[in-house]
Amino acid sequence: MGTTYNFDVVIVGAGPAGMCAGMYAGRSMLKAVVLERGFPGGELLNTEVIEDYPGFEHILGHELAQKFSDHAAKFGAEFRNGVIVECVQKRQDGTFETRCDNGDVYVSPAVIVTAGGTPIKLGIPGELEYAGKGVSYCAICDGAFFRNQEIAVVGGGDAATEEADFLTRYASKVYLIHRRESLRASKILQQRLFANPKIEVIWNTVVDEVEGDAQGLVKNLKLRDVETDARRDLPAQGMFVFIGFRPNTGIIEGHVDHDEMGYLRTDANMHTSIRGLFAAGDVRSQLTRQVTTAVGDATTAAIAAEKYLKALADGDGDEPLVGSGGYAV
Ligand code: NAP
Repeated sequence: MGTTYNFDVVIVGAGPAGMCAGMYAGRSMLKAVVLERGFPGGELLNTEVIEDYPGFEHILGHELAQKFSDHAAKFGAEFRNGVIVECVQKRQDGTFETRCDNGDVYVSPAVIVTAGGTPIKLGIPGELEYAGKGVSYCAICDGAFFRNQEIAVVGGGDAATEEADFLTRYASKVYLIHRRESLRASKILQQRLFANPKIEVIWNTVVDEVEGDAQGLVKNLKLRDVETDARRDLPAQGMFVFIGFRPNTGIIEGHVDHDEMGYLRTDANMHTSIRGLFAAGDVRSQLTRQVTTAVGDATTAAIAAEKYLKALADGDGDEPLVGSGGYAV
């Protein structure tokens, strides 16, 4: 049997967007809670060094995460642990009920979804079998396990390029395996990659299968050239996959406007198609996903939520009810 709590705004997820929304909600004197299943920080905790956040030429991801959460807490945002299973808008008054798996229910007239994303899997044989035994989706978490070993990184975006460079601190050799003949990563990251003598790019190639040894650890990748269909083995002790993220919108996806990839569509004020439901950061459909864009979104979302709540309180807000019945958004 859980407990019911009342807040002005519930913020789902404590990545950069969630923590920033918490800070602005707190500054607006709103009673705000930031719900997170793990530690506050989101993707910052999976990034070793941040060097493109203005004012910080070089800061460790976990240090920036700590600064964000301390700052939000200073202005009164509450952080609580909770695994959210659903978010329901009630017909009667338009308030949201955000339910956690322990039975706790958070009732609020506004919700800001900042739940981030989950790494996309390749979906090849051996990938899940060897996850944690050589297959990884987090360089900072697992890189040190591959000291003086030969490993592969799959992908051609910013994440793959940056993490391949990072992993050469540990690995003796890093193969970057990319399915095309050009990277989509930003030019500065490409320059670093090509200048790193420990990295070899394998173009126009995909991994078809991950194979392990008798101890159950990764020992070989089966590669296929997508142009020539030529097959070959690449002996490697590790495979890091960085082929993008899927937004964590499972609690709301089916009922709110979203793009073909599942990212939530919002207006310029971060308002989704459901009144009172705002979205910010990596869950939102947009051009790029950076810490800077996440906190920009979150600033707008928190201020828009404050104005929305004031309009509701003044009785001059838009009718918050959507549809004819209580339903899970
Ligand atoms: P991304 O930009 O979407 O790149 C994904 C890469 O994986 C692409 O090169 C794509 O190939 C490849 N890929 C996708 N599906 C694949 C599959 N099934 N098999 C093989 N390869 C596949 O994702 P991301 O690199 O994770 O970046 C996500 C966002 O975070 C971006 O907006 C990025 O700018 C940002 N980010 C920024 C930084 C930074 O600035 N320091 C660091 C990390 C992430 P194609 O190119 O052929 O499509």
